[in-house]
Amino acid sequence: MGLRSLRRTYLTGPIFRWAGTAMPPISETEREVIDAGTVWWDGELFSGTPDWNALLAMPPAKLTEREQAFMDGPVRKLCAMVDDWKIAWHDRDLPPEVWRFMREEKFFGMIIPQEYGGLGFSNTMHSEVVRTVSTASVVAGVTVMVPNSLGPGELLMHFGTDEQKNHWLPRLADGREIPCFGLTSQDAGSDAAAMTDTGIVEHGEFEGEQVLGIRLNFHKRYITLGPVATVMGLAFKLRDPDNLLGEGVERGITVALIPTATPGVSHGERHVPQFTHFQNGPLHGKEVFIPLDWILGGEKRIGEGWKMLMTALAAGRGISLPSQSAGSAAMCARVTGAYARIRRQFNVAIGDFEGVREHLADLAANAYLIDAARRLTVSALDQGHRPSVITAIMKYHATERMRTSVEKAMDIHGGKAIIDGPRNYLGGQHRSVPIGITVEGANILTRNLMIFGQGAIRSHPYMLKELSALSEADKAAGLDAFDRSFWAHAGHAVANAARAWARGWTGGRVGPVPGNVALPHHWRQLSRLSAAFALLSDLALLTLGGALKRKEMLSARMGDILAELYLLGAVLKRHEDEGRQEEDLPIVDYIMLKGLDRIAVAFDGVLANLPARWASWLVRFIAFPAGVPYSDPPDRLTDQVAAILLEPSAQRERLTPNLYLGEGRDDHPVRDLEEAFRLVAANAPIEEKMRKAKIRDPEQAHRRGLISDDELARIRAAEAATSRVIAVDAFPMEDISPLASQHRRGKKGERREAAE
Ligand SMILES: Cc1cc2nc3c(=O)[nH]c(=O)nc-3n(C[C@H](O)[C@H](O)[C@H](O)COP(=O)(O)OP(=O)(O)OC[C@H]3O[C@@H](n4cnc5c(N)ncnc54)[C@H](O)[C@@H]3O)c2cc1C
Repeated sequence: MGLRSLRRTYLTGPIFRWAGTAMPPISETEREVIDAGTVWWDGELFSGTPDWNALLAMPPAKLTEREQAFMDGPVRKLCAMVDDWKIAWHDRDLPPEVWRFMREEKFFGMIIPQEYGGLGFSNTMHSEVVRTVSTASVVAGVTVMVPNSLGPGELLMHFGTDEQKNHWLPRLADGREIPCFGLTSQDAGSDAAAMTDTGIVEHGEFEGEQVLGIRLNFHKRYITLGPVATVMGLAFKLRDPDNLLGEGVERGITVALIPTATPGVSHGERHVPQFTHFQNGPLHGKEVFIPLDWILGGEKRIGEGWKMLMTALAAGRGISLPSQSAGSAAMCARVTGAYARIRRQFNVAIGDFEGVREHLADLAANAYLIDAARRLTVSALDQGHRPSVITAIMKYHATERMRTSVEKAMDIHGGKAIIDGPRNYLGGQHRSVPIGITVEGANILTRNLMIFGQGAIRSHPYMLKELSALSEADKAAGLDAFDRSFWAHAGHAVANAARAWARGWTGGRVGPVPGNVALPHHWRQLSRLSAAFALLSDLALLTLGGALKRKEMLSARMGDILAELYLLGAVLKRHEDEGRQEEDLPIVDYIMLKGLDRIAVAFDGVLANLPARWASWLVRFIAFPAGVPYSDPPDRLTDQVAAILLEPSAQRERLTPNLYLGEGRDDHPVRDLEEAFRLVAANAPIEEKMRKAKIRDPEQAHRRGLISDDELARIRAAEAATSRVIAVDAFPMEDISPLASQHRRGKKGERREAAE
């Protein structure tokens, strides 16, 4: 006790005072972001010595029988009902029968418990539905996703009063009410907490009676489902200038549930989000008077709006966009492999060109990785975790890799994917890319500010305790708490340095490996890099303190390392969960090499730019004595991974499961593509025979008796199917532009003048 008291006074005291100036106090809004959600695997990654066995013990994401039946029934039916081109070009909305079907089958009530009339599905199921439906139509996917994620349903279940739950949940579940959520506005986008939408506590008339309520003025924009919503969740800043509630003037961000038919609310105008015509538009409110009991959670929840939203975001962000991205990436991989197999140039399938194969390998890798991470994340959500840092990682990395996949798919398809029309199966995915990048935390902000910025405080084993001690009003109690935390932190840092040194100087050979895994060398590398990451985090925090917030480029690279460690762990887990499929070894190796390379680039970037040079050299000396290890996959491996997409196989099915491929429709372009791919691939032995005989023309091969009647017919069938896929749409001039007739008149006039 005596020694501790001496330590606290003479050692910790000066450090406490220095840290108090180096670390800015946490603002209330920041604290609410930090407090939202829970710490899960991110905490392990910050520890420097993650418990890989715990990761492997996570049960793989699974559907119940009831959920599977919904996937096989209503989900498949919905997919067959939506015609993406018709929505984009003609209707600019989902047709009424699709809206009706979604309501009747309770697509808007998937996460609402059965006791309230909802479907009570798991997070895994919610994710599977969004993933599959988005591959049929992004518009339908977004329409399903919004009421089930950050909308009023989720908030009601967590924070609503019993009365509010009993009133709203059954009506939301069966689609009598269509919800939307209004948070961001013109002046407050990424910085949503700076909203200028206000609510003033005052007496007013409601349904013919004078009551104490709130007078609202708001102007929200970009609100998904806003134009058709019947009820909106609205975030606003509440003020009580006359202190009518007796709790002070500034009451903070508050959320209320407001029917859109309330006098003063106007909605119905639509934005056009990249011609992806889901319902989206502004919400205005002028002098809208609402009673106090419309506040979500009642009066006791006044001022808790930001906390509620961040809590909902901590989970929702890990489901909606990662699921849409997983579907899109798998679809891009599948259709592009098929197209590369059937499309020939220079007399060979374009999938045989190395340049194309390089991109195909990345398409396959992205499909495997995003889905591995998605499954792990939704399984964690089903276990009750709400890991805000992990879900931010998922939001950013799933959408970014989906963007890469869509671009690569477009490149390989060439003009076929550029020309829009009913035969283009990639246009919808391509148009929607920037939407996924921007919503639920715009990506630049998420990478540069959120992932490591939040993780370093929230998921670090000691940081939050230290910051809380520094903000303590009672300085003596603060110093005492800081003393305990700081020295435990110091011990942790020394242990980490020792770990990073042992693993670094042996090239990772002594890194711990979970018991009995198929690929110990990959786990060892992750163990090595986790220790190096924890060491570098501590030194970056120590030397930069609060300035790390402004050093967004450093924070982003640290976030990249953290994220990659999560994603690669998910990939290795998927390989174990799927029974260590031998045939998947090349794709797992490829992903690991690419990921380790990305980690190396990020480490190098931080070490080259860390202002405290001594810290940078110390980390290099301890963790990377032979330099940061770079490792690009060899071309042979790239080639093997690309090949997965070029052959029909069980492996291809496992890589791209549960996509909508045009079942139940006669005229679907993906269905045509699958058919052509199957026919072309089945004809490979005939082609090989002709190649060996050096005959290109099937008729000639037939005349010479090299191929049979049946084989000739099969070649012709494959050619016809291929040509159906390769064709693009061309429209009469008048169908494209209302100016066409003027154009024609002009041409006629020119010809007449020329003739005269
Ligand atoms: C189609 C669509 C649907 C939407 N649906 C809804 C909805 O239903 N409800 C709702 O409330 N909102 C919705 N939004 C709003 C969405 O959440 C915002 O668009 C998003 O928060 C970004 O705000 P902003 O567009 O104003 O961009 P800005 O905030 O102006 O950001 C512009 C750029 O600056 C970057 N940036 C900003 N701050 C930082 C920083 N500190 N560090 C680094 N970079 C930074 C951003 O990453 C972005 O790249 C929707 C938006 C769209 C486009």
